[in-house]
Amino acid sequence: MHVFGSNELVEDVLKTDLCVGCGACVNLCPYYKTWRGKTARLFPCDLPRGRCHAYCPKAEVDLDELSRKIWQTTYDGSPLGNHRKIIAARAGEKMLPGAFQAGGTVSALVTVALRNGLIDAVALTDRQGLTPVARLITDWREVVNCAGTKLMAAPTLAAVNEAVGQGRRRLGVVGTACQMTAVAQMRTNPLEEEDFSDPIALAVGLFCNWSLDTRQFQQFLSAKIDLAAIRGMDVPPPPADILVLTTDTGTVEIPLSQIKPIIAQTCFTCPDMTAEFADVSVGMFEGRPGWNTVIVRSDKGAELIEKARGEKYLETEAMPEENIAHLSRAAAEKKARALRMLMRRNLLNNKNGRHAAVRMPTEIVERILKG
Ligand SMILES: Cc1cc2nc3c(=O)[nH]c(=O)nc-3n(C[C@H](O)[C@H](O)[C@H](O)COP(=O)(O)OP(=O)(O)OC[C@H]3O[C@@H](n4cnc5c(N)ncnc54)[C@H](O)[C@@H]3O)c2cc1C
Repeated sequence: MHVFGSNELVEDVLKTDLCVGCGACVNLCPYYKTWRGKTARLFPCDLPRGRCHAYCPKAEVDLDELSRKIWQTTYDGSPLGNHRKIIAARAGEKMLPGAFQAGGTVSALVTVALRNGLIDAVALTDRQGLTPVARLITDWREVVNCAGTKLMAAPTLAAVNEAVGQGRRRLGVVGTACQMTAVAQMRTNPLEEEDFSDPIALAVGLFCNWSLDTRQFQQFLSAKIDLAAIRGMDVPPPPADILVLTTDTGTVEIPLSQIKPIIAQTCFTCPDMTAEFADVSVGMFEGRPGWNTVIVRSDKGAELIEKARGEKYLETEAMPEENIAHLSRAAAEKKARALRMLMRRNLLNNKNGRHAAVRMPTEIVERILKG
C-alpha cells in the first residue's frame, strides 16, 4: 500500500476538495477535527506515515490490494463487487418501531447483532439539528434513534476511532461506500503494527450515489424552510427527479436540479455504489416502498441475516432478476463515470511519484470503461 503522512493528506485530499468528511482521520490524534461536514487539521505534523492517510478513502486506495486482503480475491471491477446473493428484506414483527428510511433492514440487523453480543457497540449516524453526527451505541434499544438517512456526508468513523482508542474491539459500523472503504483499510493493518487486532466485527454498508455538502445544504434549505421542522429526507427513484423533505406539517418537494450543485464534488470520483467492502450492503428497493435491497457479501453477513430472520427481526424474500439487472447497470455506470472523472483530474493510478486517489489494474480500468 502507498501510505504517506498527514502533510500528504492535507495537500492531496483536504486542499483539493476530495475530503468527504467521513471521520476516518478524526480521533486518531488530537490534530484532526470535524465540524459541520468539514474536516480540518489544527496543527502541522511531519510524520512520514500515519493512520490518518492510511485509512482515508480518498488517498491511495488500492482496490486490488484491498480486495485481496478483505475477500482473498483480485478486484475484478464487476458492478456490484464480491457477493453471495441479493435478496429483498424489511424489519420483522419483533423489531421496535422507528422512522426507518425504507424497510428498516439496517436497524434490524444492527439490533440483532447487539442483542446477541456479536458486537459490543456500533457506530451509527444521528443528527443534531440538520447536522449529521457520529454516535456510538451500546444498547440495542437505542439503535432506532439513529434510523433514517441524513443525505449529507457524515463523520461516523470518528466514533469508530474513538472507541478503538478506548480499547474497544468487536465493533459494528454502518456507513456509505466511502466509509466502508475506509473501514476496510482500518481492518487490514496498513501500518503493519505488531500489536494490531481487527476491531471491526460487523460492517453494514449503505448504497450511495452521492451525498450533499452539509453546510451548503443547510444554507440552501434555511432560505426555504424551518430547519427544526425537518423529520426526514428521501430521493425517490427516477423519473421523480425530486428530493422530498418530510416536515412536522407535511412534505416539501425540491427539484433535483436545485440540489445537484451542492453534491459533494468528491462523490463524482467514487467508483462504488453498493459499499463493496461491507459484510452486508443495504439500499432501497426501487418500486417497492417499505422494502430494502440487500447484498450479502460475507459468511458473517449471511449468518446475521439468518439469525435476524430466525428471531423474527427480519423478513426476507427473493429479489426479482430484473431489479438485480437494473441495480447492476446503475452501479456499472457509476464506476465508469467515476473513472472518467478520476482520469480527468489525474487521480487514477498516478506514476512517477505522483499520488493517486484510486489505484486499480489497467485491464480492469479498460473493462469498466468498455461497459
Ligand atoms: C448519503 C446517502 C446516500 C444514499 N443514496 C442511496 C441511493 O442512491 N440508492 C439507494 O438505494 N440507497 C441509498 N442510500 C441508502 C438508503 O437511504 C438507506 O440508508 C438504506 O436503504 C437502508 O434503509 P433502512 O430502512 O434499512 O435504514 P434504517 O434502518 O433507517 O437505518 C439507516 C442507517 O443509516 C445510517 N445513516 C444515516 N445517514 C447516514 C449518513 N449520512 N452516513 C452514514 N450513515 C448514515 C444510520 O446510522 C442508520 O443506522 C443512501 C444513504 C445515504 C446515507
